[in-house]
Amino acid sequence: MSTHVHVRVSDGLAVTEAGDLVENYRCGCGATWAKVHRADEGQPEL
Ligand SMILES: [Zn+2]
Repeated sequence: MSTHVHVRVSDGLAVTEAGDLVENYRCGCGATWAKVHRADEGQPEL
């Protein structure tokens, strides 16, 4: 058995209606991930 190690390649950013920032990642094998940065945590400087 070979072990596939996912390589997370950034696939863009999106912002939800709630203002959360979503980072999308994907691997060459087709797996995808979404990392959500909630707007009410770690407010960016204005
Ligand atoms: Zn993979």
